[in-house]
Amino acid sequence: MNIIQLSLLKNSGCGGGCKFCGLSKTEATGREAIVTASDFQKVYDQASAAEARVELVFQTAGANVIEVLNFLLEMAEVIKRNSHVDLAINPGICTRPDFFDQIANLGIKRYRNNLECSRKLFAEMVPKRPLAQDEKLKSLLLAAEAGLAVDTGWLCGLGETESDVADMMNLLEMARPDAITLNYFDPGESAEIFVHTIPAPERGLAYIELLRGRFPDVELTLGGAYDLWLGNHLNRISNIDGLYLGTFLDHGLRSKSWNAKENLGFVKAG
Ligand code: SF4
Repeated sequence: MNIIQLSLLKNSGCGGGCKFCGLSKTEATGREAIVTASDFQKVYDQASAAEARVELVFQTAGANVIEVLNFLLEMAEVIKRNSHVDLAINPGICTRPDFFDQIANLGIKRYRNNLECSRKLFAEMVPKRPLAQDEKLKSLLLAAEAGLAVDTGWLCGLGETESDVADMMNLLEMARPDAITLNYFDPGESAEIFVHTIPAPERGLAYIELLRGRFPDVELTLGGAYDLWLGNHLNRISNIDGLYLGTFLDHGLRSKSWNAKENLGFVKAG
């Protein structure tokens, strides 16, 4: 299924400290949500028209569960009115089991936490939180216990070696996800310069094959800079289940430029 993302991150950035992310800032950043009920409804309308689900992205580093729950309570009417569209949330790490029960009660169907890359690469890329993947895994497992579908992702192109890829597959197996997003790193978006993989369709297609072979029954979507990596090949890919539509951080306000037909022109898995 395709996914439309609505980000609650402020354009001023995020204190997550991930070298690969253009939003990463070292100084303290604002946490105020700037998405209104009408923005949220607009995203639901687009998702409904595109047979996509909606994914809400919160300030993911050090997310405060109270802030997350307050926002969801504020939007409870919108969520209820649009219950025909699946809603996922990406609120960052949360190891409080009651949090997942509460969000399930609010009508949230899915929890996303991207594992991103191998443990070794993660420690290099996110030196501020080198062991965060343990808590990411724990969060995913708690969400599954609460009955939510769990979504995770691999950010490929960070310069991974064969052993990094093997470790990533291992992490994904441990997470037992319902959906995996293969995110493609965009070198133009990184916060810091590091040695990365040069985007190439052969490599991008090989990663799709690898994931499809290892996780044949798991929903597979593409995100990040897939256009940049895959180019014209995208229209011929038939073994994925969906795409992220639009761009990150547009706060759901892309309706003026978004064209469902154009964006949905790829062949979906049967
Ligand atoms: S990847 Fe997520 S947590 Fe890391 S800096 Fe970017 S927005 Fe923040």
